[in-house]
Amino acid sequence: MQSAEKYFIGIDVGGTKVYGGLVTPAGAVAAQHKEATPPKAGPKEVLEVIEKLVRELLKAGGVPFKSVIGLGVAVPGIVDNTGRVVVTPNIGLSGMDLKKVLEKKYKVRVVVGNDVNFGVMGEKWLGAGRKAQNIIGIFPGTGVGGGVIVKGDFVTGHQGAAAELGHMCVDPKGPLCTCGNAGCLEAVVGRWAIERDIRAAVRKGEKSIITDLSGQKFTQIKSGTIAKALKAKDPVVTRIVAHAAETLAAACVSLNHVFNTEVFIFGGGMIEACGDFFLPRIEKALKKDPFFKDLQTPKVLVAKLGDDAGMLGAVAAVRQGLDLKAITGAYYPKLRLLASGKVAVNATLIEKPFYVRADGKLKEPDEFVPPHITSDLVEELTKKGPDALFIAVGKNKRLTFSPKAARYLKKKKIAAYILPLARVVKAYNLSEERKAVFFYL
Ligand SMILES: [Zn+2]
Repeated sequence: MQSAEKYFIGIDVGGTKVYGGLVTPAGAVAAQHKEATPPKAGPKEVLEVIEKLVRELLKAGGVPFKSVIGLGVAVPGIVDNTGRVVVTPNIGLSGMDLKKVLEKKYKVRVVVGNDVNFGVMGEKWLGAGRKAQNIIGIFPGTGVGGGVIVKGDFVTGHQGAAAELGHMCVDPKGPLCTCGNAGCLEAVVGRWAIERDIRAAVRKGEKSIITDLSGQKFTQIKSGTIAKALKAKDPVVTRIVAHAAETLAAACVSLNHVFNTEVFIFGGGMIEACGDFFLPRIEKALKKDPFFKDLQTPKVLVAKLGDDAGMLGAVAAVRQGLDLKAITGAYYPKLRLLASGKVAVNATLIEKPFYVRADGKLKEPDEFVPPHITSDLVEELTKKGPDALFIAVGKNKRLTFSPKAARYLKKKKIAAYILPLARVVKAYNLSEERKAVFFYL
């Protein structure tokens, strides 16, 4: 039987920093490390940074490389379906066969892909999109990134370049985009585009508090500053951002016509700062869509993982398709029913209320007053996002979920079972899902 814990390494190569995590198969981050992206980074420099990150992560986690079963790398650009980087506009990886190079060096499973695609995958695994199989992710920051998941897998297209949602044309006569086309979504909704329009209005002599808010230099209009101007009901900024929000909303309605999605997930700097302004407009447009009025309106959700999305998504991608039972079997503790009617978790005899979280950690509940399982307790037990929650009750013991707890489980789509101990031991050991178990014996 395998005993040593296994890990994945996820690395998100960004324009300014390279961020990595050592992650368990169940999604717990055991160590993380960050390095600045070398200036004018080419293949050699980026490779050196990745190697350094791997070393630092292993050191921080105190594990040998042989514990690593997969390496996922997210890069900001187009990656073809063989893991070769086609183009990365902001760092010099274009043309590099990154997957092959890393496989040769590390001799483990390697997956290389677009950072936003992986980010959406991360949100599906551990973030806002858990349980959803059809997801459209849109991330308006300085530019606009996108990713599409259909039936559980992301859409990469013929050569890996699909789902560039920021570069869908929303106005053929619109402003020029960074990609060379005219009227892309990004050229209207990206922070740079909003900044361009605000500057043009100010140049024309329109009065806006944005000039005060941005300080004397007025060199860059940050998304936080745009949010402040919106809050102050500045007419210029409100008009321009409302146009951006309506354009994005219309694009979402179109995307829904193409993909009939279940969930939209929004993230990125503009949404973090101005989500309250954007999201209700998008929701309204989706709800009002006359064509799809007889279908379920997609959910509009905010991304949850922040800076971790690309890194965790890289892990989600490399983890996908592996024999998870072999891995999680080594990861989750084995439960053993003892002749005394008690239970042992690995070698630990359980004698009081106790639980094993979805990340495999053994814990005591903060507060537990039988026979009720309160919503607070359920939130605690399901903290690391299990798909199944097993509750084991001893002989002559009774437990019930409070109505609020039951609603919580339903909302989070967590399957919950209150069963006699022997059945829980069997079910838990057999389950291949992300799982948590609570004992009241
Ligand atoms: Zn474009």
